[in-house]
Amino acid sequence: MLNAAKGSGGEALLLLFEILGLVFVLLAVLLAFLFAFALLSVLLVRSGRRVPFPKFSLFVLSVLHEPLRWLLTPFGSGGGGDLLERVAISLGNDVNFRDFVNFPLTERILILPQCLRSVECPAKLDAFEGIKCVKCGRCEIAMLKNLCDSLGIRLFISPGGTFTKRILMQNRDKAVVGVACIPNLYEGLLLTRLIGITAQGIPLLTTGCVGTSVDYEEVLRRLLAR
Ligand code: SF4
Repeated sequence: MLNAAKGSGGEALLLLFEILGLVFVLLAVLLAFLFAFALLSVLLVRSGRRVPFPKFSLFVLSVLHEPLRWLLTPFGSGGGGDLLERVAISLGNDVNFRDFVNFPLTERILILPQCLRSVECPAKLDAFEGIKCVKCGRCEIAMLKNLCDSLGIRLFISPGGTFTKRILMQNRDKAVVGVACIPNLYEGLLLTRLIGITAQGIPLLTTGCVGTSVDYEEVLRRLLAR
């Protein structure tokens, strides 16, 4: 009787190990599939092709962000290892684009970083509206400001991340075009997805604390897209 009990206990243990082994193998296969899918998405975006299931791809890229980032760092531009973030921003733009164009121009806002201004910018900082461009013409923002004013688009020049987050939270019902460096844009992408804002992100061409640049044609193309 004792031997029979021992025998059935051993069998139950064996069955438990078999189940655990099976679960482990299934998890490993699922993880391998997700990694392969994420890497395929990166390759497709980099070669300018469409990614199947872009929303799912964006989800996988954010869930596996850290291990993927580590894997892709050697392939990032400028040694910064930002390839993954660039791909995620591009995918985010694609996913949001159809909703974005449905917003009338008056319900779109443009957020620019303060580093895009001329170093001789005379604009003053307003706690609620950010840096208030006076259209002095020393930088391209004057052109954007004129255009936005004429079309009813609100333009913000952000002095920093805290201000940008506040503007995003206050404009959750609007569509947003954001210009920033890759890390800030990626952070913005995560936040806008979290709070349900339809956003388009444009990375700076040159980064730094002052004298940065952006493709203004790209800004106009996205901001005015219909
Ligand atoms: S155009 Fe606006 S943002 Fe640019 S330097 Fe003049 S006031 Fe500053």
